[in-house]
Amino acid sequence: MAWNRFRRKKDMPGGLWIKCPSCNTMLFKKELARNLRVCTECDHHFSVTGTQRIAMTVDGESFVEESPNLYTLDRLEFVDKEPYSAKLDRSMKKSGATEAALYGACTIKGQPLVLCVLDFSFIGGSMGSVVGEKVTRAVELATQKNLPVVVISASGGARMHEGALSLMQMSKTSLAIARHAEKGGLYISVLTNPTTGGVMASFAALGDVVVAEPGALIGFAGPRVIQETLRQTLPEGFQRSEFLLDRGFLDKIVPRAEMRDTLSNFINYLWTYEGDEVVPLGEWQEPTFPGSEEDDDSKVESKEAAEESNKKS
Ligand SMILES: [Zn+2]
Repeated sequence: MAWNRFRRKKDMPGGLWIKCPSCNTMLFKKELARNLRVCTECDHHFSVTGTQRIAMTVDGESFVEESPNLYTLDRLEFVDKEPYSAKLDRSMKKSGATEAALYGACTIKGQPLVLCVLDFSFIGGSMGSVVGEKVTRAVELATQKNLPVVVISASGGARMHEGALSLMQMSKTSLAIARHAEKGGLYISVLTNPTTGGVMASFAALGDVVVAEPGALIGFAGPRVIQETLRQTLPEGFQRSEFLLDRGFLDKIVPRAEMRDTLSNFINYLWTYEGDEVVPLGEWQEPTFPGSEEDDDSKVESKEAAEESNKKS
C-alpha cells in the first residue's frame, strides 16, 4: 500500500518562505511582513497575533496594556483531549500571551482611544471569562475616560471549556457597550477572519460602526453546519465580508493597509472629546510593525527549495 499517499500534507515549508493559501504563490516572509501580512499577489489577508495587530494599528509605542495579569482559572475542571488547565498552560507557552485578548489605551494618528484586540492564535480567540472581562473592562475604561473604543475581533466564539461562564460573557460585554452608548460613547467593531459564534452574537455585532477586513468569515454557526441543517446549497461567498456588505450587515470593508486611516477618519467624523471644540491631536509616529515580527527562522531555505519540498508533499 502506498503509505506516502496518506502522509500529512506539508503545505508550509519551514524557513523564509510561506505559501499563500489563496493563490499558492511562494511569498518571502519578510516581504509579507512588510506588506502587513497581506499577500502581494492576491491580497489574501494572513492571520496576525494580538501583539502584531496592535503594532500595525497604533502610533509607535503608544499602547499601554491594562490588566495584563488576568489569568483564567479552570473552574469546571473541564477535560476533553486534555485537562483545560493543561491546554491553557500550553497555549500560554506557545503564544507568549496570557489570554486571547488584550486591551489598553493608545493613540491612532494622535487620537487617544481604548483598543481591545482578540488573538486567534490563543485557543482560537475564544471567549472565556477573562476575554469577556477584558472586553468589558476596555469598554468601561473608554466610558470612564470619555474615549472612543475599538475592538478588533478574531474568534471562533464562546469557549466551551468554560460552559455557562463563557456564555455569560455575551450579556456582560453587551451591557457594557449599552452603558457606553447611553453616555454617548463611540464604539467601532472591526471584524477579521474569522469572527464567529458567541463573539459575533454579542459585542462584535454591536458597533456603532462595523467594518471588516476583506474575505473574512463572519457569522454565528459555520457554513457547513447551516448547510447540513437546511439541506440546501449555500450561495457563493456566503458569510464572507463582501457578501455581508452587499446585504447591509457591514458599513465598510477595509483592507489592512487602510485600517489606521479608516479608524482615524471614523473617530474624527463621529467623536468629540468632552469639553474640546477641536480634537487636540497629539504628535504621532508610524506603527512599529513589521519591526516587531519574529519570523527569523534560523533555517535558511531558497525559494526553489521551498517550492520543491512543497511539490513533493
Ligand atoms: Zn495570494
